[in-house]
Amino acid sequence: MHNHLTFTKTQASDKNARRELVKVAKKLVTLGLNRGTSGNVAVRHGKTFLITPSGIPSECMLPNEVVAMDFSGVTLGAGIPSSEWRFHCDILAARPEIGAIIHTHSRYATSLACLNREIPPFHYMISVAGGDSIRCAPYALFGSQELSNLTLQALENRKACLLGNHGMIALGYDLTDALAVAVEVEALCEQYCIALQIGVPNILSNSQMQEVLEKFKSYGRRPKD
Ligand code: 13P
Ligand code: ZN
Repeated sequence: MHNHLTFTKTQASDKNARRELVKVAKKLVTLGLNRGTSGNVAVRHGKTFLITPSGIPSECMLPNEVVAMDFSGVTLGAGIPSSEWRFHCDILAARPEIGAIIHTHSRYATSLACLNREIPPFHYMISVAGGDSIRCAPYALFGSQELSNLTLQALENRKACLLGNHGMIALGYDLTDALAVAVEVEALCEQYCIALQIGVPNILSNSQMQEVLEKFKSYGRRPKD
């Protein structure tokens, strides 16, 4: 009886997590950050992680098509995981504070990624990515271990990076956080693209960015009574 109860509880939490993952994959489409089969999402789930299936458009993705995997890269159950399971797996394994990963081919982040250029601190909000720049990983074939290795390097001390000639990755403590980072990074990329078209953006200094990073530590937090 006890075992049966534990089993159904686990099943319910698994079902919920799958539903949440699909919801975010679809939200990325309604927000205009992804379309069709472009992009993928993964979320930590106990000692495993759940990842969107490969080659299925988010618009018609179902929770039972989500794939469970362990951190040695073994698929648990049916389905073909996203071709990018390597970087999702490697990032979650290397970054215990991270619970969710979003990969997009969003318009402005991808346009900048095609220049293979990192984004400098042209706006203070660049700090949402965790530092004073958003790096761009050099191009490597989608789904390759090489892409995963380059991505991990570009994400050092960061919650986002661009992928050369490909797109963007955003990390979060959970799916809501990862989505917020992805949306903000895409907005920053749009602002940077527009600023570059008008002129030469003013770049904030190291000390200005240090000040911002420091201020963000208490931003939005109520002072303790
Ligand atoms: P998947 O459909 O395999 O997730 O591939 C989409 C993608 O963005 C590859 O980089
Ligand atoms: Zn991709």
